[in-house]
Amino acid sequence: MAGKTVTVKCKACQSPFEARVADRRRGWGRFCSKSCKAIHQERRSGQYRDWLNGADPDHNPEFSNAHQFDNCE
Ligand SMILES: [Zn+2]
Repeated sequence: MAGKTVTVKCKACQSPFEARVADRRRGWGRFCSKSCKAIHQERRSGQYRDWLNGADPDHNPEFSNAHQFDNCE
């Protein structure tokens, strides 16, 4: 087998999983899956929370009036 593993908690979903000790030494193995890593990084930037709260960039008030300027001519 390829190296020892250690049971650690996923930083995103708190689920225990097996991470390789070699990966932990490199600062990896903090998440049980790639999607959990993505979720954690989104949370840090706040975008994931905004998305959960129903924020919709397509209906951003800043852009809702943009067409008024397009019709100037
Ligand atoms: Zn996870």
